[in-house]
This record gives sequence, C-alpha cells and structure tokens, in this order.
Amino acid sequence: MSTTPAGGSAGAPAPPAWDAVLFDLDDTLLDLRSAQHAAFDATVRRQWAGAADVDPAVLAEATEAFASDTGGHYGRYVSGELTFEEQRLARVADALRTLGVPEDAATPLDGLWTTDYEEVVRGHWALFPATADVLAEVRGTGRGVGMVTNNVETYQRGKADALGLEWVEVLIGSDTAGAPKPDPAPFLAGCSRLGTDPGRTLMVGDSLRHDVEGARSAGLVPVWMSPDAPAHGGAAEPLWDEEHACWRMRAIGGLRTWLAA
Ligand SMILES: [Mg+2]
Repeated sequence: MSTTPAGGSAGAPAPPAWDAVLFDLDDTLLDLRSAQHAAFDATVRRQWAGAADVDPAVLAEATEAFASDTGGHYGRYVSGELTFEEQRLARVADALRTLGVPEDAATPLDGLWTTDYEEVVRGHWALFPATADVLAEVRGTGRGVGMVTNNVETYQRGKADALGLEWVEVLIGSDTAGAPKPDPAPFLAGCSRLGTDPGRTLMVGDSLRHDVEGARSAGLVPVWMSPDAPAHGGAAEPLWDEEHACWRMRAIGGLRTWLAA
C-alpha cells in the first residue's frame, strides 16, 4: 500500500475545498463493533451455558465473525432478501457453529437474539472519542453535516438521536433514496438535502466498497476512516492513499486539519 503525506508526492492532490461532509454512521461515528462484541459475549452465555468453558481464542473468533458478518447476511438484509431479524439470527447461527455448540442448543433462541440482544447492544452504543466535538466544530465553520448509512432511516435516526446527534438533520438511510450504498443515489440525496455540490462534499466512512468507492462514483470527495492508517504529524492528518485513490485518516480528529481551509 502506498500512502504519502498530504501534498507530499506528485500524485497527491491538494487538500480539498469543501462546504459539507457526509458521514457513514456505523463504525465511523459510532463504535458499533465494540458494542456488538459486548452484546454478543453477554448473550451467547445465555444461549448456551457451555460458552463459559470455550477457549477464549475460539470465543473471540466467533464474536468477530458475528460482528464482521463474514457470512454476508447483513448485505442480504440491505438488498431486501432478509428481514433485519432474519439477518441477525443467521449471523448468530454461523457464530454458534464456529463455537461448536452441540446440535440441541445450536438454534438461536428468537427473543434472546432479537429483543434481549437489542437491549444490550443499545446499552453499549457510543461515539468514538472526539466525535461529538469534531462534528460541532465542523458545524461551527458554517459547513453542512449529514449522514448516509446502510440501514433503515428510522432505526438509524433513533440511534443517532440516542448519541446526541439529533441536531444532524440530514440522515439518508438505505430506504431513503431508493438504493443503498455504494449506489450513487444516497450520496446525491445527501448532497441535495444539504444543498451542496458533490465535488465540494466529503464522504467519510470505514467501508472501501460502500463508502469510498460509492462516494467516488457519485462525484464526492472520498475519505476512508481507517484506524490502521499511518500517523502523520501530531494529529491524525488525512493522507492521500494512491492505491485506493482516496484520502485516508485514522480518526475523526483528522478533519481538524481541514477546518480552516
Ligand atoms: Mg460503516
């Protein structure tokens, strides 16, 4: 992977001029991965008492498979093939198989993984550090702030409100614009609602396929939220990633570099 400091190579563009920013929500503003890990760990022990005796490395592997959805069930939900609850139960079934749960205990208990799990995961919803401050600072410069997310709008609206982001009025869900990311439609709907030109709008997200490639094809400025990005200078300054043709930053604080521009 080739990553160079902003402006540090012939291939790197100048830092973007921008009027607004659209954010992905899950695992970009909200640390959903940590919440999923905590909720899965608590709930699997209620599904199967034997979980307490499983090798911690195996438990960690099953938890990560559940959180990262290695079976692609969430994508089937976004495309309309499964309901939200069906994708959850399918992910749980995969994880229980990874854990080696005996046949008679391997069927996900419905209320446990829908209602109960939901309550636990909501209790763990939290923004990444500095997120609320950085969003307020962006707003303070007069720029627009919105969200484009691949889950239904009402669910994500409730999530954002619970996290203190009720002031972010523009939220495009997978059902808002007629198609989910990476289709250009939700990005363009976000720009339209914010009243900004796509070419002067940043799209910040953790998914290369859904956020970065989708934003680029819609004409926005793609910024890859990537905790593995190399540090540059004292802050999480965005770097130009030549391989993926996008800006890349390790944490939301990197946007502060571009606030004065
Ligand atoms: Mg995401």
